[in-house]
Amino acid sequence: MVDALLIIDMLEDFVRGPLKTERALPIIPTIEQLADAARSQGLQVIYMNDAHLPVDFELARWGPHAMRGTPGAQVIPELRPRGGDLALEKRTYSSFYQTGLDDVLKKLEVKRILLTGLHTNICARHTAADAFFRGYQTTAVSDGLNAFSEKDHADGLEYLKFAYGADVTDAAALLKAWTGEAYRTPAQGRKVHGEEEPGVRPHVHA
Ligand code: ZN
Repeated sequence: MVDALLIIDMLEDFVRGPLKTERALPIIPTIEQLADAARSQGLQVIYMNDAHLPVDFELARWGPHAMRGTPGAQVIPELRPRGGDLALEKRTYSSFYQTGLDDVLKKLEVKRILLTGLHTNICARHTAADAFFRGYQTTAVSDGLNAFSEKDHADGLEYLKFAYGADVTDAAALLKAWTGEAYRTPAQGRKVHGEEEPGVRPHVHA
């Protein structure tokens, strides 16, 4: 199972700007730790970031936020992407809608996305829907996601399980799983594939 870690909308405007919620704060260190562990496991870390244009219809619902190219659209400094991470722009709730994410996941042979960020019942939910429609498995990280209220968060997790068959786990369980032998990262996957190629077999003298 090749996984990728998605970090959704951990942007200035969602954490400290017009859409701020204090409920974003406790998930920051959790995502930070998870992302570091994912990187060291060779998992692809993918930031899915709102980058709105003034014509976007979503602004009528939420007001201007995370406008493309503005400071409010920047990933918060605590979670700034590292070398090797990917960052894709989105203009709706879904991380799959006109973002190129599906293409990236297919090229990396990712089968399962791990969801973190904001909000459990909005962008995570719509991302999980589009993942389900495309045949990906979804794991929701319960303490790496949050929403405007505890009810929104809890309902969001329940809906992911009910509608999309998502697994719900927490960061500690993932960190533990990543030390297990059964776990296969994209980097390890490529190595296994390379060993099957005749060209890289060591020459053996008869
Ligand atoms: Zn938005």
